[in-house]
Amino acid sequence: MNSHSKGFTLIELVIVIAILGVLASVAMALFGETLADTQKKACIANRMTILRQYTMAEARGDAEASSLENYVKWYLATYYNGATTLCPSGGTYTCTQDPLDIICSEHGSLIDKEQNSKN
Ligand SMILES: [Zn+2]
Repeated sequence: MNSHSKGFTLIELVIVIAILGVLASVAMALFGETLADTQKKACIANRMTILRQYTMAEARGDAEASSLENYVKWYLATYYNGATTLCPSGGTYTCTQDPLDIICSEHGSLIDKEQNSKN
């Protein structure tokens, strides 16, 4: 019988596990950034959609479009089973009439986003 067994030594296994740990932590950090960025973009898109719908409802003279705040409440109650927000991060919405804006507590104002994207 050969006294040298075939296989990995303990130090080889520890090195491999350490390398996998470093790779996993880098991957998790990148995934976390991507998730936060995606949630922010989804929140902006949801608020822009509501704002466009409000503008059309206001032009038609719909009763629920008496103010943006009323319209957001009506919109969420009608199309999203009474949800209070469409923010994937759980932010709450605050509406302003002048300037017309839906502000998310997590992702801020839509007006800031438009100005930033133009630069
Ligand atoms: Zn948000």
